[in-house]
Amino acid sequence: MHDNPILRPALGAASSAAATPLTFTDDAHADVALGASDAHPAEVVRASNLARYGTLAAVIVPPLALVATMALAWGGWFGWVDLALMVGMYVITGLGVTVGYHRLVTHRSFRAKRPIELFFAICGSMAAQGPILWWAATHRRHHQHSDHEHDPHSPHAGQKPGFMGRVRGFLHAHIGWLFADLRADADRYIPDLTADRGLERISALFPLWVLLGLALPAAIGGLVTMSWMGALLGFLWGGLVRMALLHHVTWSVNSVCHLWGARDYRSGDESRNNPVMGVLALGEGWHNNHHAFPASARHGLKWWQFDLSWVVIRTLEKLGLAEKVRVPSADRLAARAR
Ligand SMILES: [Zn+2]
Ligand SMILES: [Zn+2]
Repeated sequence: MHDNPILRPALGAASSAAATPLTFTDDAHADVALGASDAHPAEVVRASNLARYGTLAAVIVPPLALVATMALAWGGWFGWVDLALMVGMYVITGLGVTVGYHRLVTHRSFRAKRPIELFFAICGSMAAQGPILWWAATHRRHHQHSDHEHDPHSPHAGQKPGFMGRVRGFLHAHIGWLFADLRADADRYIPDLTADRGLERISALFPLWVLLGLALPAAIGGLVTMSWMGALLGFLWGGLVRMALLHHVTWSVNSVCHLWGARDYRSGDESRNNPVMGVLALGEGWHNNHHAFPASARHGLKWWQFDLSWVVIRTLEKLGLAEKVRVPSADRLAARAR
């Protein structure tokens, strides 16, 4: 991919502007990027154990409360149809983000047949995490500056030491960053994507896809139960609750996975492999692997690191719907191991 002429101007421009090469689609540049941590040594502060475990509790307890609510509502305001709609829409829109937004479009870790690419881009849009072009630009910026100044959502960079500094860092990485100035330079980060008419149209129609993501479970819930109540519950569980859950899990990759978990590979930042997020985020929680090898289509690099998104990409490849699937060689894995 580093031979891609479309990306080359972006790589060059970024290198001269920030003395940090872009690493989002190119593992070959990741070695150079490791030097980035030397460039800003004072900006990375490590979280204390209290902050890390406190963070984990803050992330886990509210979803447990939601599970308790579901149990209490079971048979009334929550049943099998609602559960199926919630899980089904979670997986479909989640894969839209992980396979479509992230691994296919942002990192170009594989290529897919055009209808497949657009389908996943629309599914990802239904997750309501922002238009795909904005998401890609913001995420490439995250990789370029991971845990350093200009990282849009680091729990570490720019935070004061001490307990409150850690808490503020977590809140910023989890959700606060969404309320900050989020302009990402399209010319610098996504010149290859803004040239794509199809992706640009899907990005521009973002509100429509969000509404579709709410209307779909409502329609299915209504048709399956043949009732307005079924439609309302489908809208609530398959639409709103599913959306909130996936938001929480995706943001946890930004916050939890830069705080809590194993660091198996040298990545030049604080990214972590977190097994809970690995499963819940459909493979994206193997985040240290991802930062070490950003161009890899596979994030769960060990056999036991379950990565549903990788299963989907491999299946697409076997069906002839995906090609140029990139994974790091054994030599590269060994060279980067800690
Ligand atoms: Zn990250
Ligand atoms: Zn990424």
